[in-house]
Amino acid sequence: MLLIACPWCGPRDEIEFRWGGESHIRRPTLDESPSDEDWADYLFNRRNPKGLHRERWVHEAGCGQWFNVARDTVSHEIVEIYRMGEASGHSPSGKQP
Ligand SMILES: [Zn+2]
Repeated sequence: MLLIACPWCGPRDEIEFRWGGESHIRRPTLDESPSDEDWADYLFNRRNPKGLHRERWVHEAGCGQWFNVARDTVSHEIVEIYRMGEASGHSPSGKQP
């Protein structure tokens, strides 16, 4: 069981949260005239790394806020937690990936 430190509520049990997939996915803009492959990549293709992975989580049973988590997929160690729109490296824990 993971202990996840919500940036607003503090550490809570994993069961209060819902995983939202890979974070920092960039939506193609219409100015770029994205191809069908570009859209398919944006909609369906995700990284599945062995090691550090940046993910979105929502504190569903708490404040309802979304935030980013940098987690090691092998050890499940949470390396960093930061708010949406916040740059990596500004975790309240001071840790950096
Ligand atoms: Zn919360």
